[in-house]
Amino acid sequence: MKGMVHVYTGNGKGKTTAAFGLALRGIGAGKSVYIIQFIKSMEYSEIKAFKKYFPFVPIEQFGRGCFIINKPEKEDILEAKKGFERVKELLKRKDIDILILDEINIAIYYGMIDCAELIEQLKNRNQEMEVVITGRYAKKELIDFADLVTEMKEVKHYYNSGVKARDGIER
Ligand code: ATP
Ligand code: MG
Repeated sequence: MKGMVHVYTGNGKGKTTAAFGLALRGIGAGKSVYIIQFIKSMEYSEIKAFKKYFPFVPIEQFGRGCFIINKPEKEDILEAKKGFERVKELLKRKDIDILILDEINIAIYYGMIDCAELIEQLKNRNQEMEVVITGRYAKKELIDFADLVTEMKEVKHYYNSGVKARDGIER
């Protein structure tokens, strides 16, 4: 069966949680799931949950924090490039049903990964693989290429009334 390319983007909440939700659904169906996170390095609660309850799901992080302030530093770029090298290997694999590339849009947005090169790699991937790409600021080229694009649009967010990130809800 042909795998699809999903993009979850936009400024509203729910992109990463949607990707992990899909991972959960895939696991339930006996699919093999592989998760790569760009930018992030913290052990978010969803990572803790997967490590504890689904230890057979590989999760690799290529990042140094939660977000990039102003512009990426040399180490950020190195991490992103290392992550992209891993993604290239994984896209060829026959034993992965669902590959999640969390926040890769951010790495592209900051110019740390070349969007055209990613699209090229997606074209040449194991065609049965479902690939989920998340993060704000998805590039138009990627949106045009993807089979499914969902924009999480912020209509209201409690951050605007000063609520801080909470464990188990935002992280
Ligand atoms: P989630 O991880 O909850 O599914 P997301 O992946 O859609 O959200 P991101 O854009 O990746 O959201 O942002 C990471 C986290 O920062 C999210 O939990 C989100 O709720 C939170 N966030 C969103 N807007 C802001 C803001 N203006 N200031 C601080 N944090 C925010
Ligand atoms: Mg996210």
